[in-house]
Parts: sequence; structure tokens; C-alpha cells
Amino acid sequence: MTERPDRPADRALLLTFDDRHVRAWAAAAPLFTSYGARVTFFVCEPDRLDRDEVRLLRRLADDGHTIGCHGLRHERAPEFVAAHGAGAYLDREVVPALDGLRRLGFPARAFAYPCSARDQNTDRLLLTLFERLRGGVPVGRRADPSLAAELHVPARELADRRVLLGCSVDSGRGTLAYGDDLGGVEAALRRTAEHGGVTTLYAHCVADAHEANHVTPARLEKLLAAADGMSLPCVGFDELP
Ligand SMILES: [Zn+2]
Repeated sequence: MTERPDRPADRALLLTFDDRHVRAWAAAAPLFTSYGARVTFFVCEPDRLDRDEVRLLRRLADDGHTIGCHGLRHERAPEFVAAHGAGAYLDREVVPALDGLRRLGFPARAFAYPCSARDQNTDRLLLTLFERLRGGVPVGRRADPSLAAELHVPARELADRRVLLGCSVDSGRGTLAYGDDLGGVEAALRRTAEHGGVTTLYAHCVADAHEANHVTPARLEKLLAAADGMSLPCVGFDELP
């Protein structure tokens, strides 16, 4: 986190959103603002953003949110590398996405793995281009309080930890509901508030219903309120040390 005297810099919730749901993210902006929360949007297919989406994304960046990279065509990294090689992965999937975001004015210093698919080889590759990467923990474990130890990164380890694992807080996808028990996530937030460091979470669209993975505004507000109640600031990836 950036050292600014107006807020504690030693603990944070890193709330992140993936894919290309720019209009829904922009609609949620007042909710973030009301909690003083800054988040990270990991954007894929930057070449497919329309003018309005670019304008909205710029406004989110102006509000202090971080814009990161999520690949050009949302390819799963290890599979793409196995099929086409490391060079092709960077040349066809990563560099065009990064260049596309930079052309739009977003430095995109962090990358989130599509489908959280990663390995040590892809980590090494991508860390030549990005300061930090976001992977994931199995979504089925988010109710399990023991997840807190995996999700929580202590402050003293943060400078060296270039790959942060997040947990999904999505409410569902299409007609499928993922269940309301976020016991592991809540335990991780408490642990982070108590001991310092960060916990990383991810979602996709923000909507009451959507065919894609989505978190409801009500759940989002509950999470923001929980972090706020623990005096745990919500910051973007670009604010990490
Ligand atoms: Zn994705």
C-alpha cells in the first residue's frame, strides 16, 4: 500500500473484479465510494471495449481504482503454453492485452489469471511483465474457516509475495447459486484486520442476476461493511508496496 498519512498502510482487503463488465462496475462505483473503497478491475478483451466502456473505465481509474490485465481472449495460461509454447502465449495472449490497455491509458501493472489457472512456469513468465499476479484458491473451500491461513498474507511477507491467491465471493452464475456461507472469507478478513497484511477476494459482474458469474450488490455491500467495521481499508493492487 502507498504510504499516505491519512490511512493505515499495514493492512488491507484487496477486492478484485474480472472480465469485461464495465457498465455494471461503473454502476457499483457509488457503493465503493460510500465505503471509501478502492478496488481492482482485471479487464480481458480490451480491444472489444466500446467508447462508452473506455470512458467509464477511465472514470473508475480517476476515482482511484486500479485497472489490471486479464488476457486478450481469456485463455488458460498453462494450457495455452502447453499447446503453443511460452513465446506464443506472451505474443498472442498477454502482450496484445497489455498494449491494448496501455494505449487506453492504463498502465496495468498487475495480471489476474483467467480461471485462476496457473503454474510456476507461467508465474515466472508473467512476472517479467507484471509486478503482481492474482491466482485463486478452490472456490469450494470458501465456507471453511481454515481457509483464512491460506488467504491471509502477513504484512512482512507482502513485499516478496508476487502471486496473491484470491477467493471467489460471487453469488452465482445464471440460475446457479453458489451458497451464502463465506465463513472462510470472513475468517480471513478478521485475521487480516487483527494481524495486518492483506486478503484478496474476487468476483465478476455486479448484478442481482446475470448469466455470467456475478456478485449481488447486497453481498458486496455486506463485505464492504464487514471490512469497514473491522477498520480494514479496501485498496487496489497498484497501492501495494
Ligand atoms: Zn475471467
